[in-house]
Amino acid sequence: MSIEPSTLSERGDFIREIVAADLRDGRHQTIVTRFPPEPNGYLHIGHAKSICLNFGIAREFGGRCHLRFDDTNPIKEEQEYIDSIQADVRWLGFDWGEHLYFASDYFEQLYDWAVYLIGAGKAYVDDLSADEIREYRGALTQPGRNSPWRDRPIGQSLDLFERMRKGEFPDGTRVLRARIDMSAPNINLRDPVLYRILHAAHPRTGDKWCVYPMYDFAHGQSDAIEGITHSICTLEFEVHRPLYDWLLENLPVPSRPRQIEFARLNITYTVLSKRVLLRLVNESYVRGWDDPRMPTIAGLRRRGFPAEGIRDFAATIGVAKSDSVVEVGQLEHAVRNVLNRIAPRRFAVLAPLKVVIENYPEGQVEEMDVLNNPEDPSAGTRKVPFMRELWIEREDFMESPPAKFYRLAPGREVRLRSAYFITCREVVKDAAGEIVELRCTYDPATRGGDSPDGRRPKATLHWISAGHAMPAEVRLYDHLFSCPDPGADDRDLFADLNPDSEKVLLGCLVDPTLAALPVGETVQFERLGYFTPDSDSTTGRPVFNRTLTLKDTWAKLQAQGKQG
Ligand code: ATP
Ligand code: MG
Repeated sequence: MSIEPSTLSERGDFIREIVAADLRDGRHQTIVTRFPPEPNGYLHIGHAKSICLNFGIAREFGGRCHLRFDDTNPIKEEQEYIDSIQADVRWLGFDWGEHLYFASDYFEQLYDWAVYLIGAGKAYVDDLSADEIREYRGALTQPGRNSPWRDRPIGQSLDLFERMRKGEFPDGTRVLRARIDMSAPNINLRDPVLYRILHAAHPRTGDKWCVYPMYDFAHGQSDAIEGITHSICTLEFEVHRPLYDWLLENLPVPSRPRQIEFARLNITYTVLSKRVLLRLVNESYVRGWDDPRMPTIAGLRRRGFPAEGIRDFAATIGVAKSDSVVEVGQLEHAVRNVLNRIAPRRFAVLAPLKVVIENYPEGQVEEMDVLNNPEDPSAGTRKVPFMRELWIEREDFMESPPAKFYRLAPGREVRLRSAYFITCREVVKDAAGEIVELRCTYDPATRGGDSPDGRRPKATLHWISAGHAMPAEVRLYDHLFSCPDPGADDRDLFADLNPDSEKVLLGCLVDPTLAALPVGETVQFERLGYFTPDSDSTTGRPVFNRTLTLKDTWAKLQAQGKQG
């Protein structure tokens, strides 16, 4: 059963309840949220859930949502990602106004706060190596041990930290750690690392810094600097919350944000890990970050998914406190709902078979009126040229049709959508026995697709005039992975890739008006599915991506093993 997104988006989830209560009780006058991507890859559909949640709450409660780049790891971060993230958030329909921030803008303040913590005896410079720190940290069931440097004099830590900043020490030789509790049950509180030495150029601050704050030392403080009221993040940060709170309690920060965690989005047949997505791109399994099979926002856009469909999907899945996996069909359902409503219908033939109508006058061209959208009469009609030679879909003809195949066959009459009834009189084959042409006749009394004597053919086919058809390349897309849980049970994730996720069809023929269809618009090729122009299109040589199939009852019947 499907639930209408509009009713769901008004249903409060546990985060909206907290926000509403905080406003009601006067804890906040204005709600301020943020979306905090790390610019180390393109955004994916999981991020879209977080974007819709953060920007959605701000919008619903009359507050604001910041876009903040969490750019604390210069090794993996790039300007290309910063640009794509902004474009993708905008495309999804959200606007941060003037509230664009970068954690790197706060580096000076964060450094001062680190010095403050050292001065208060709550942080120290540690000379242990990364391996030693790991070893001293202990395990879940075993307390950690104090570093021998834990009790070094405050003055010494202050001096060393300053020299770390000046670049006097190589990477990995020293770190700054919080001085909390090496036997805390929560490992995140066992003197977590706050700063590390990294002699790496940063996309925004260049070579100014060679010490960089860790995520934990940047995130909460950035929230506090910006006056974030509700810092909404995914569940893996729940165990970081005590540290988030500890830092805010022990620093002279200007505000006290509250961290709230929700379940991250997982989808069947899909991987949402930037590390994996980066490998798919770098190792050329796909055409790039915006490959139409990628779960990235850029990929979904290139695939022809409308932003509205993605927002509806986010509203439908809601927000929960425990992890689950959503069927990819649910995303596709939300997208089809939107496309069915807005996508204009056009004729296209993917695997063409020639039809010659023997009793139709040579050289004559008629303009047939065809509905743009049978679901929406207000979308009007269009003129489609009709003539003696046409193309139909090869699949729509069978020489010896089995039961339940109702389309064209020798001696049988079918309807050409919004045109005429035609009857197949003769099958023409080449020397190899391949069918190359059907000789047919038409009934002039059925113009527009209805018969005055009430005859009703069992099938209606799409078609395209041979004198007007435009050649096109069509790329058929299917799920990138061939199983619902790629890489599960220790399988190699890349062995689960679907070898048939992209099929390129050359020699397709489309309605000539589609040449003018801009990238970003999606249409329905009647009876075939939803398609959108790809950015690889060139003048006179359009390329179309299949966004989604239609629901195909014939395929369903075949799958159930009924006649085919
Ligand atoms: P990945 O694990 O794919 O590398 P990430 O969590 O490191 O992603 P960030 O750029 O840090 O990526 O994420 C920005 C925000 O988006 C964070 O608040 C994060 O919690 C949220 N987010 C990331 N992935 C998901 C997801 N699958 N579902 C919901 N929210 C997500
Ligand atoms: Mg992250």
